Amino acid sequence: MSYWEQRLAKARSYLKGLDAIMLSSRYNVTYVTGYTGSDAVSVFTDTTSDLFVDSRNTLQAREEAHAQVYEIRKRWEEIYEHLRGLNVKTVGIESNVLDVDSFLQMKNLFVDIQMTPMGGQLKYLRAVKDPSETALIAEAARIAGEALTQVLAAGIVGRREIDVAFDLECAMRRLGASGPSFEIIVASGPRSAMPHGAASEKVIGKGEAVVFDYGSLYKGYASDETCTVFTGEPDAEFAEVYGHVRKAQSLAIDGLSAGVKASVVDRLARDYLEGVGLARYFGHGLGHGVGMEVHEMPVVSHLSKDTLEKGMVVTIEPGVYLAGRFGVRIEDTVLITDNSCKRLTNLDKDSIKVTT
Ligand code: ZN
Ligand code: ZN
Repeated sequence: MSYWEQRLAKARSYLKGLDAIMLSSRYNVTYVTGYTGSDAVSVFTDTTSDLFVDSRNTLQAREEAHAQVYEIRKRWEEIYEHLRGLNVKTVGIESNVLDVDSFLQMKNLFVDIQMTPMGGQLKYLRAVKDPSETALIAEAARIAGEALTQVLAAGIVGRREIDVAFDLECAMRRLGASGPSFEIIVASGPRSAMPHGAASEKVIGKGEAVVFDYGSLYKGYASDETCTVFTGEPDAEFAEVYGHVRKAQSLAIDGLSAGVKASVVDRLARDYLEGVGLARYFGHGLGHGVGMEVHEMPVVSHLSKDTLEKGMVVTIEPGVYLAGRFGVRIEDTVLITDNSCKRLTNLDKDSIKVTT
């Protein structure tokens, strides 16, 4: 079976008695049909796989899609007629992404077709990656890591965070990325204590912690990595916190394996930080899935109900944030294997990277 046949087969396993499923989220449509553009709806049954686009996207859809392409003008009316033609009585919908206006139109039109909300389940459609996908995530990570290495080598002290972020984005694009996979975080000095400190106009000083959280997008797949570096010789307190965060991350990574509950992995990192009195400065979850989107399933947190499976790609990113002073976050993206994991991000995090 080709990857496309495998994906359609996987999508069909969600039918579970329904006549059809309608996908309207961009990434799930791409995943199942191969069409990478926007504004499309995919409908599949046990025996059919159809893609509905408007005239702006017909050519691209016909080139890319592993599905029957239909050009439509009145989206929901024509999809309804199509469903009736297939004798569909029940259809699963992506209730987590479908907008309310579309839903109200469908509700009026689909009088003899029952809609079943499946958002919570279909979120997991892409959670387990095939080898073609993990190769693209690994390449995105390679590009991003190489780009950061170049930017650090050029020196960051005395420059504004946004200028450094711009250089990082340019370096990623020059190395083959189509862009960053999310808004790059460059947070220096006290700003490093803001877990999502998007790059600002602050000038990076000497003797500061700098958190880089960044990733590239390569052929539709994202990478995600965080490096916390220090400009100049790190002081003892920073070195101590860094060592604890790195240890927490290592313990969590060592605990990764297919069959392990994601909440247990979160606990490994959190319990260690608890033991050294730092858990209360670690407010967010330990990690998340990465794929076409930089945040996707599974959830890796103490509240997660997810169990890790072979082929899932997740981040492990503990952080300690001391308000007004500094923060440390260390993040790698890894592929879950049968009884361990394989790191997809490349930069060394064992020793503090000292930069100028
Ligand atoms: Zn990140
Ligand atoms: Zn992340």
